[in-house]
Amino acid sequence: ESVVNRIAAGEVIQRPVSAVKELVENSLDANSTSINVVVKDGGLKLIQVSDDGHGIRYEDLAILCERHTTSKLSKYEDLQSIKSMGFRGEALASMTYVGHVTVTTITKGQLHGYRVSYRDGLMEQEPKPCAAVKGTQIMVENLFYNMIARKKTLQNSSDDYTKIVDLLSRLAIHHINVGFSCRKHGAARADVHSVTTSSRLDSIRTVYGVSVARSLMNIEASDNDPSTSVFKMDGFISDSNYVAKKATMVLFINDRLVECSALKRAIEIVYTATLPKASKPFIYMSIVLPSEHVDVNVHPTKREVSLLNQEIIVEKIQSAVELKLRQSNE
Ligand code: ADP
Ligand code: MG
Repeated sequence: ESVVNRIAAGEVIQRPVSAVKELVENSLDANSTSINVVVKDGGLKLIQVSDDGHGIRYEDLAILCERHTTSKLSKYEDLQSIKSMGFRGEALASMTYVGHVTVTTITKGQLHGYRVSYRDGLMEQEPKPCAAVKGTQIMVENLFYNMIARKKTLQNSSDDYTKIVDLLSRLAIHHINVGFSCRKHGAARADVHSVTTSSRLDSIRTVYGVSVARSLMNIEASDNDPSTSVFKMDGFISDSNYVAKKATMVLFINDRLVECSALKRAIEIVYTATLPKASKPFIYMSIVLPSEHVDVNVHPTKREVSLLNQEIIVEKIQSAVELKLRQSNE
């Protein structure tokens, strides 16, 4: 049974960055205002996510890492269409089958916290009382220690830390009321460091730099016709001053970080036609639409979504981008 569990877990947690995403999303779900990530050896040796959220109750610790343990059932009614059902309460459990998980947590009003380690879905021993200030810290050590081939492939690629930094940068500019940091273990300097702010542009400036922020223009689009499409989009798109080798598309749909290649392509086409010299844009968009209109159509970990009336939505956004670029070009 443990081999089957391990294989299933390896599907949910494909790389270190998938573990970071699940852990940070849990911290966000716990209403944290500060989330700090430490990574060692691209995440293979250590991933540590500390937050100041509501914590985990003592009585929930025993079953925390059993599969399908979730405290979010009511919330999942809204999220089920965007996040695969298979992921209900599966992230933490999966991590315990492919790594060593230690949780330190304290809930409001408690004098001390608890620390407990898990393996293969189970607590290794009773939770031990420990000092803790606020929130939860989850450590995942020795990821893929029992999946030699996977570990080898990942060890030879140096880009996992880059992927983690990229993920946290994206999350940071969307969740501007949360401060994020990400650093390599032992490093004095953080590679992502955002503070809470009320301005998204300030956040983008902090995370992506002055020159990116300076090139951005505000953009909006919406539709509210049930017979065609219902959505609201706002965001930022780069102007002709932004020249990059690769396009960056940061897309949130109903506050979840997702990918939509159809939308990305449609926008790149407009850029190539309108600003050929700056044809690889920087895009941040947040789309809100009825959750039942969102569908995960490929592998759940890839977060590729398709939308009901996608063609109409993509077209509407594409025209908004085109109009903005033409105006800025005049
Ligand atoms: P899911 O997020 O789908 O519920 P997970 O396996 O990711 O499943 O997490 C299991 C449960 O552990 C969550 O439902 C939540 O109750 C609890 N949890 C995990 N991380 C945190 C955290 N950082 N703060 C508070 N609760 C957490
Ligand atoms: Mg989760």
